[in-house]
Amino acid sequence: MNQSTLKKQLAKLNPGGLRWFDSVGSTNDEALAWATEGAKDFSLVVADEQTHGRGRLDRKWFTPKGSAIAMSLILRPSAPMRPHLSRTVGLAALSISDACLTLGLSPKIKWPNDILLGGKKVAGILVETVWSGGEADSLIIGMGINTSRESLPPVESLRFPATSLEDELGHAPKREEFIFLTLEALAKWRNQMDGDGFIEAWQERLAFRGEVVQIRAGDDERISGILDGLDSDGSLRVRDEHDKIVSVRFGDVSLRPSA
Ligand code: ATP
Repeated sequence: MNQSTLKKQLAKLNPGGLRWFDSVGSTNDEALAWATEGAKDFSLVVADEQTHGRGRLDRKWFTPKGSAIAMSLILRPSAPMRPHLSRTVGLAALSISDACLTLGLSPKIKWPNDILLGGKKVAGILVETVWSGGEADSLIIGMGINTSRESLPPVESLRFPATSLEDELGHAPKREEFIFLTLEALAKWRNQMDGDGFIEAWQERLAFRGEVVQIRAGDDERISGILDGLDSDGSLRVRDEHDKIVSVRFGDVSLRPSA
């Protein structure tokens, strides 16, 4: 993939703009700066390598050169989207998982922000917001997707097992084609963000649904229970040992199957 093959592949989607980097610190940082300078809706930053890729809470996201997708999409929220901004991570998760489904894979969404194949993490999502006077001016949707085997971080640095599309498919897909599939799906889901069907689709694809999971919130809070589904704002519903539904909000939360 290079700037020109990517531009050609994405032409049909009519992106607001496209910025390509052979190497960059973090595509989200570039997109945040571009959004502040007035980037148009559906503008995209893509890098062949990230040297300081970020996960949640400044955890590191590994993107070695030429082996993965590192991209950040800028969305200017439309009026119907505004009351549902907490669903944005679901928008990205549904879109990446749609692209996996198109390739014949069986993706699951590890709430809130990871995509799993065969129980291992193939992609991560980092949503950030640019605020202006108390209103969301733009949303930055960072997506890191492991395409080739070389994209996998050293095992000792992992908090959760990882995989790549190459490991699961037997070959690495063309990165520009996978980007196209993801963004095509995202353009479609975006128009459905205010409907109940959006939450239902997101919920159906959740990993560990109906299973006992452990949720770690911060350093010392732990919740254990059966993963029930999602609330309408995208919070996770867990049924605890007293048969009571507990809602878990986004934040410093890590989900794990119960050992
Ligand atoms: P967890 O998956 O442990 O619940 P998290 O969802 O908060 O944590 P993220 O912020 O999405 O994690 O991603 C950062 C973590 O993902 C890192 O701490 C590292 O363990 C792992 N990681 C980093 N790069 C990759 C990659 N390319 N593929 C898979 N996992 C990665």
